[in-house]
Amino acid sequence: MEMYETLGKVGEGSYGTVMKCKHKDTGQIVAIKIFYEKPEKSVNKIATREIKFLKQFRHENLVNLIEVFRQKKKIHLVFEFIDHTVLDELQHYCHGLESKRLRKYLFQILRAIEYLHNNNIIHRDIKPENILVSQSGITKLCDFGFARTLAAPGDIYTDYVATRWYRAPELVLKDTSYGKPVDIWALGCMIIEMATGNPFLPSSSDLDLLHKIVLKVGNLTPHLQNIFSKSPIFAGVVLPQVQHPKNARKKYPKLNGLLADIVHACLQIDPAERISSTDLLHHEYFTRDGFIEKFIPELRAKLLREVKVNSFIKPKENSKENELIKDERKTIYTNTLPRSSVLGKEMEREKKPKEIKVRVIKVKGGKVDTLESKKPECEGRHCQQNSIDAHTMSQDTKPVINEPLNPVNPSTNSNGMKDDLYAGGSMTMPPINLTSSNLMTSTPTSDLSHFNSRLTERTKKRRTSSQSIGQIMSICRQEDTDAIQVRQEPSL
Ligand code: ADP
Repeated sequence: MEMYETLGKVGEGSYGTVMKCKHKDTGQIVAIKIFYEKPEKSVNKIATREIKFLKQFRHENLVNLIEVFRQKKKIHLVFEFIDHTVLDELQHYCHGLESKRLRKYLFQILRAIEYLHNNNIIHRDIKPENILVSQSGITKLCDFGFARTLAAPGDIYTDYVATRWYRAPELVLKDTSYGKPVDIWALGCMIIEMATGNPFLPSSSDLDLLHKIVLKVGNLTPHLQNIFSKSPIFAGVVLPQVQHPKNARKKYPKLNGLLADIVHACLQIDPAERISSTDLLHHEYFTRDGFIEKFIPELRAKLLREVKVNSFIKPKENSKENELIKDERKTIYTNTLPRSSVLGKEMEREKKPKEIKVRVIKVKGGKVDTLESKKPECEGRHCQQNSIDAHTMSQDTKPVINEPLNPVNPSTNSNGMKDDLYAGGSMTMPPINLTSSNLMTSTPTSDLSHFNSRLTERTKKRRTSSQSIGQIMSICRQEDTDAIQVRQEPSL
């Protein structure tokens, strides 16, 4: 950590704290997730799982892991710093996100989910606080602590719970054969939240959640009803039978027609009936009025600009401190952008000293404010919350995981990187391949015991930033209508 200057805290979960830091030599602003040192092994398992996935799966809409090191027995994950989260935006815009911005965010979120699903990975904790948003509006899925590879047919997952409000019915009922559709359910809940500003299924217990699912979405399938009836946890409980409108637009009247169709396709009680991420990306919601054709070049330009900004951050050569730190901390691997990548080559061509006008430090560094000190416009967030949802806030919970983790094999993996978390040395990460195959098409290369309260979570997760969220939002608002703006300092 000596190589980094701490600028403030940006997040805190059950497993660690996320700090905004500045690399002393390069000036790069990063987010360092410092895992707690807990007696039980779960923290190490979560950390190891996250590292494993982030090493293997790289995509421009997934958070970029830069390096990993262990210091004073604590695992440190160094990520590119991303400005804020979708939750931050929702706290500011309590009636939901503006429709143009919503479509751009959803498209990118889906690209990330499709990439994972095509690689047989389920994220298992899709929610607004895990969607990071850069200043230019690029979304990056984060928190891979619960991600895992799909079980082979016949295999079962050991007990695991995602954040309750976004949990699919098969997860609530602990059906051991769940899969990719759990992410699609969570996405459906998140879409409603992003569009309306209100969580769709805030709930204080699994039973409360199931009751809300039945009231707002649909009756359990015979298979799920069978699990429910046999569960000792729900002994003696009878869920109501509700008649729901078949028409998506009548069912979700607050949503724009096509968005209602998408949500309806995501929120199917039977996981087999839920739409896939690929089909979602081809949905008319995205294909109408040439959205994809217009947005892909915009996204590509933004990504190139962000990579360019990062590539201008150069380490000081022959830094004594560097040498000292090299010994002090054990770097597990580092991530650089290889020149061989398409994007790397493009950057090589464009990287001329006289063009160095963009400096990230002034954009993201500087004075630190906490979000708490800036009162958001919509303090309660549940602006239009109905009475059934109003009783749910009391204590905070992070998902609990009782699942044995695939041990990290201390050998070299398919990427040619050492998997041993405790090995020294430095590793190069594979590039985020901004090629036509992944950017120009939508297909990539590729407990009952706890209560999840957003209110408490909000006080727990602090975001520090060089700008107030209001400033950030006004920038984003502008970007909804304007052409891309490059933040530049005047040439020196
Ligand atoms: P945990 O697993 O402990 O919940 P997360 O990875 O979900 O940790 O991060 C917690 C919070 O920290 C996020 O909701 C976000 O506010 C912040 N955060 C995480 N990663 C970054 C990042 N790369 N840049 C900026 N903020 C981040």
